[in-house]
Amino acid sequence: MTATTPELQLNNGVTMPALGLGVFQSPPEETAAAVETALRLGYRHIDTAAAYGNERQVGEGIRRSGLDRGDVFIETKVWVSDYGYDQTLHAFDKAAGKLGVETLDLLILHQPAPDRFDQTVAAYRALETLLADGKVRAIGVSNFMRHHLDELMKQATTVPAVNQIELHPYFAQQDVQRADAEHGILTQAWSPIGGITFYPGWGERRRNVLQDATIAGIAAAHDKTAAQVMLRWQLQHGRSAIPKSTNPGRIAENFDVLDFELTGDQLARIDALDTGVRNGPDPDVPRPEMFDRVIPED
Ligand code: NDP
Repeated sequence: MTATTPELQLNNGVTMPALGLGVFQSPPEETAAAVETALRLGYRHIDTAAAYGNERQVGEGIRRSGLDRGDVFIETKVWVSDYGYDQTLHAFDKAAGKLGVETLDLLILHQPAPDRFDQTVAAYRALETLLADGKVRAIGVSNFMRHHLDELMKQATTVPAVNQIELHPYFAQQDVQRADAEHGILTQAWSPIGGITFYPGWGERRRNVLQDATIAGIAAAHDKTAAQVMLRWQLQHGRSAIPKSTNPGRIAENFDVLDFELTGDQLARIDALDTGVRNGPDPDVPRPEMFDRVIPED
């Protein structure tokens, strides 16, 4: 196993390990162990969110690893109920406090609030202030579509460093990827191995990308797993990917993707699997219930 992953340079010069550990749906009681395991295996990037309810355990896992703070890239997200300029400044304090750190490497808006876009922009302005004050090293967004990015950039001065979006072989969002590239934004894949196509209990009729025959064939040719092939596909396309697992074997498997290379033909065959059908919520559809989730102070 290789002990380091490639680094990607963000649009403000900060470097970010391309591969990180995701912790959505990682139960708090398993999160610290998963983070510690990942860091011992060589991961140096963790993606969490205020809304995941496990920032405190992410911080604990980082401390347990014994690594210096500066050796781990910490990314977290502001939840929509904390949007607004002052609220988002305070959301930083809540997140940093739970994680037990002074600064964050990347702080992003979890999603646009389509019917309260003025609050979304105000939240982004707060991220700009946090960046100027040196409290975060980079800022970004998540689940933004082209028109959200265009609208944001009419009112903001800092181009987001990252846009984290649903992106796996069955839903690759080429238009958003192009919009990101046009703005100079790095695309980061959530559900990079298609987790949302097979989350337990999320709808049994979904087509599970882990069982895709094309990917299975490519995996067999490299003596790798389907998950490893998908992660390799993400990295070779220049994207960041943050696979989630709480299982030590799968955490290791997802990091063991640097000793093989997909051919151009294999990349194209995976690209061709895109169905254009989203599995996660449509970022353009207002969901008032999102605002009911209050992020606790501690
Ligand atoms: P992933 O594509 O990372 O898949 C995770 C699922 O796959 C889990 O059920 C996991 O179970 C399983 N798994 C992990 N590795 C393997 C493997 N090698 N073989 C087979 N199964 C495997 O999906 P996520 O949706 O979790 O996305 C990753 C991260 O992206 C999240 O954790 C979160 O950080 C972020 N995210 C962001 C969103 C946003 O709105 N910004 C939305 C969703 C996710 P197990 O733990 O048992 O291994």
